[in-house]
Amino acid sequence: MQIQENISLKPYNTFGIDVNARYYSCFKDSTELSELLTAYPRTYRLVLGGGSNILLTRHVDGLVMKNGIKGIRVVKEDEEFVYVQAGAGEPWHSFVLYCIEQQWAGVENLSLIPGSVGAAPMQNIGAYGVELKDVFHELKAFHIEEKTNYTFGLKDCCFGYRESVFKSKYRDQFVILHVTFKLRKKPAYTISYGAIEEQLQKMGVQELSIRAISDAVIAIRSSKLPDPAVTGNAGSFFKNPVVTAAQAAQLKARFENIVLYQQADGSCKLAAGWLIEHCGPAVGTRWKGYREGDAGCHPQQALVLVNYGTATGQQLLSLSDRIAASVVEKFDVQLEKEVNIF
Ligand code: FAD
Ligand code: NAP
Repeated sequence: MQIQENISLKPYNTFGIDVNARYYSCFKDSTELSELLTAYPRTYRLVLGGGSNILLTRHVDGLVMKNGIKGIRVVKEDEEFVYVQAGAGEPWHSFVLYCIEQQWAGVENLSLIPGSVGAAPMQNIGAYGVELKDVFHELKAFHIEEKTNYTFGLKDCCFGYRESVFKSKYRDQFVILHVTFKLRKKPAYTISYGAIEEQLQKMGVQELSIRAISDAVIAIRSSKLPDPAVTGNAGSFFKNPVVTAAQAAQLKARFENIVLYQQADGSCKLAAGWLIEHCGPAVGTRWKGYREGDAGCHPQQALVLVNYGTATGQQLLSLSDRIAASVVEKFDVQLEKEVNIF
């Protein structure tokens, strides 16, 4: 296992932030992971997957451990479901395409999300009405201090909206090694969300299939979202805030066109992108499309902050704080960061 010293992390985070790691290594299995942890007992450790949900604001004066655990295999099946285990280092979108190839249904709405399989449970990734928890069976994780493996079932992960126990209570304590998914042999389609139905019609799809849904999602995403290979970004910077029904009614009375979605428990989810679109750095200006040096707010997606080249993590963080403050000032709604700040 190779250990590199003082390397730039620019190729390893989709924001393209140029900070250094004192030590960097990619582990292929739990034995290599254990060896790494033993070799650097008192060093700060940062686990990295695809680096697509992290903003690096400083050098990592410690060890960056990139998850390189690969492999996809069926562990069991019954009439309805196939249970598929994937290594945490598998790229998420390749895994989705593999499932579609095998006619295993459930992850098609989650096509084209960057990053690794192992980070997917971290924030219970979600898109177009499907969340990781809907297809999750269990995961294996390595406890960094105890150096032992644990198995987490659905309830143990405490999945919530872009949340899990690994992002809160157990933050930085576990390395996810493998995730097992419960996928359907007969699909149950989710097409009620956003623009999927419209896109399927545009594509002239006569017969619904998991491949058609995946193609539709890929087409929508490619047209709306900046490609990190071209413009540095980490997707949505903030979560969509959830407010009480009473707060939602007050907001609706003041801002007639506000975008809100009623939740099953009576609360309301607000579209953070809409809130940001209606705020700006100064009176009469808008954040959407705003640029300050190489840090900016994407012209098509106000929820996505971008690095046009040489922005630092601190510059992007400072911009995000000003955006959040302007949303509080105008709407009295606090935005919470979705991206992990290091
Ligand atoms: P990283 O950025 O490498 O890591 C994220 C966090 O998880 C870090 O704190 C890291 O320490 C930790 N971590 C990583 N791997 C492990 C592991 N194996 N064990 C323990 N901890 C680990 N997200 C969505 O939910 N829905 C979307 O639709 C979506 N669209 C996106 C579109 C774009 C263009 C981009 C750039 C991002 C998007 N994201 C989306 C965010 C991101 O892709 C996901 O959150 C993804 O799961 C992050 O995976 P990663 O491997 O890149 O994680
Ligand atoms: P969109 O379709 O323009 O919708 C804006 C927001 O409204 C979304 O964030 C979505 O919330 C919500 N929404 C739309 N239709 C809804 C419905 N029928 N019921 C409940 N909520 C609804 O969104 P977009 O920005 O193009 O993104 C499309 C999907 O991809 C969304 O699910 C979004 O979360 C996901 N995405 C995530 C990231 C990320 O980094 N996390 C980046 C890009 C896209 P939800 O976000 O709660 O779904």
